[in-house]
Amino acid sequence: MSQEDWKKKLTPEQYNVCRLGGTESPFSGKFNKHYEKGTYTCAACGQELFSSETKFDSGSGWPSFTDMVDSKNVEIKHDYTHNMHRIEALCSKCGSHLGHVFNDGPAPTGKRWCINSVSLDFRPLTPLKPE
Ligand code: FE
Repeated sequence: MSQEDWKKKLTPEQYNVCRLGGTESPFSGKFNKHYEKGTYTCAACGQELFSSETKFDSGSGWPSFTDMVDSKNVEIKHDYTHNMHRIEALCSKCGSHLGHVFNDGPAPTGKRWCINSVSLDFRPLTPLKPE
């Protein structure tokens, strides 16, 4: 997709984060304090990224996860912007910027995937209907 196509498909806020690598303000995102059971998907292309099973409250103001749904679904890249060396997380399917991953997370992985709410959509787990 061209930048123009992405602009049409995404909201201005999503475009800024997903395609330009921006960051939403901390504590502003709809998934920061969201703890329903289900799967977080890429807001731009729908690929599955994170599970509610690995979500935790890091206090950072951004949705935080200890792991990815599948390591094939998230790509990592060195990021040297803002005079820092960070590891950037991107959707492996569409290349959208998701956030960054840090080594100060809780067990079992010790990772903290710090992700923008606007980069995510949520698919709730559908409970099985009783017979
Ligand atoms: Fe994607």
